[in-house]
Amino acid sequence: MKRLSSRRTCKGCGYTAGPDTDACPRCGGEMYQRDDDKPETIQKRLDTYQNQTAPLIDYYSPRRASSSRSTATARWTRSTLT
Ligand SMILES: [Zn+2]
Repeated sequence: MKRLSSRRTCKGCGYTAGPDTDACPRCGGEMYQRDDDKPETIQKRLDTYQNQTAPLIDYYSPRRASSSRSTATARWTRSTLT
């Protein structure tokens, strides 16, 4: 997400690079953020993505799995220590 929103393109040769690149490594030209990588565009893309796939991802999310696992671990630890 972050990587997408901050990707830059060289004005001179069109080379694309990461957010930390201020000058094109290929031709030394100025880097700019492409229109379709602007936050608004990405937000729109994410909204669509969320509407379509978020419920599924949330259901199978690792966070959900790990939180139930850590609860089990906490219970186990407590009963072992006492
Ligand atoms: Zn360049």
